[in-house]
Amino acid sequence: MKVFGSSGARGVANDDLSPGFVLRVARAAGSYWLADRVAVARDTRATGEMLASAAASGLASVGADVERLGVVPTPGAQAYAEQEGVPAVMITASHNPPEYNGVKLIGEDGVELTREQLEDVEERLLADDYETAAWSDVGEARSVEGARRRYLEAALAAVDRERIADADLTVAVDPGHGAGALTSPEFFRRLGCEVVTVNAQPDGHFPGRDPEPVRENLADLGDLVRAADADVGVAHDGDADRAIFFDERGEYVEGDATLAALAAAELDAGDVAVSAVNVSQRLVDVCREADADLKLTPIGSTNIITRVPELWAGDREVAIAGEGNGGIFFPSYRLSRDGIYTAARFLELVADRPASEVVEPHGGYHNVRVNIDYEDDAQRQAMLAAAERQAHEAGADLDTTDGYRLDYGDAWVLARPSGTEPVVRIYAEARDESRAEELAEEMREALAEADG
Ligand code: MG
Repeated sequence: MKVFGSSGARGVANDDLSPGFVLRVARAAGSYWLADRVAVARDTRATGEMLASAAASGLASVGADVERLGVVPTPGAQAYAEQEGVPAVMITASHNPPEYNGVKLIGEDGVELTREQLEDVEERLLADDYETAAWSDVGEARSVEGARRRYLEAALAAVDRERIADADLTVAVDPGHGAGALTSPEFFRRLGCEVVTVNAQPDGHFPGRDPEPVRENLADLGDLVRAADADVGVAHDGDADRAIFFDERGEYVEGDATLAALAAAELDAGDVAVSAVNVSQRLVDVCREADADLKLTPIGSTNIITRVPELWAGDREVAIAGEGNGGIFFPSYRLSRDGIYTAARFLELVADRPASEVVEPHGGYHNVRVNIDYEDDAQRQAMLAAAERQAHEAGADLDTTDGYRLDYGDAWVLARPSGTEPVVRIYAEARDESRAEELAEEMREALAEADG
């Protein structure tokens, strides 16, 4: 797909991503949906209102009435879509820096459009093929109050409030000036937690930190956990569909360890977990211990969203899905990543024992990443052929969903061409550091030889 990558259309606002472009996306999506009503929501970005207005204009031009939800987390827009049975356009660039923005398309079931559906919208957009309404039939716009409130009510009703409230937890929250600033602190208070915050004013300039919830951006949250003697720290990205945690000592918890801990609590024998081909050995080990199946998709959440309903159609129970970046799906609740719901499920575990103990069994893994440059397509092909030979020679289980993933049972290595740069990326992971390094080096040597 040219327009919609693995996580929607994104770019620097007013540069790659102009109001005119968003208007065309909205016209194409509106023509595809042919819905009477479409919701439009946004995160806190400085360009959000401008682009939401462009989306609203495009939708009205194809005859859809537009419901403006204002600033809402992406999972909140998804909840509204599902509750009302209307599709939605979400203006967000998720975790990207402040100058970025983007468009996500959500179906009337509250689920982001699948790859196939997006291809349909994209085809219309590239052909400028829209169902333009007559002047007397264009849509009307109205503001809708209460989307955030209804989103919180639904999440509160779906988690174990008593268990969390009884634990008298103190939660330190860092919404990073994003849409979660308007929902997360209230959510944790209503769960009966004591709440302290940092970066909790909605601000599209993101003065306190970058929207991406990675360790180097979250030092203030670690400090707050220690200063407030909190039981757990929670950080979101700009649209609050991701949750990243700190333990009670103020230590950053790897997203892979959180996913493994939540999966260990959630998976029963015979269940399925879905993740991407760079899935951590931590989740591989949890699935093996639970006697659950692990299904892998190409990297990018659109692929996970497409895969889960296929498994449902085969009568499989998909208990958990997601990646190690804090974006986790509990598909029986809703097929969306949801920062507050994920956090509440983590708090259910923290109610019984300290956060550090919840994730302790999933710590101590080592990751190695190496990039190898290539000059041209011939060299790229030679490298990939070498990766395939390496897989066969090594006698490991081979997964070719996206690149070449070699599973050794206790460890894995993946060689995958980057989608954006002329490099093949090598990833390896094992409990033993030298084992991870050895596997990455073996693959690197195999690819380097293919070079000549
Ligand atoms: Mg996000």
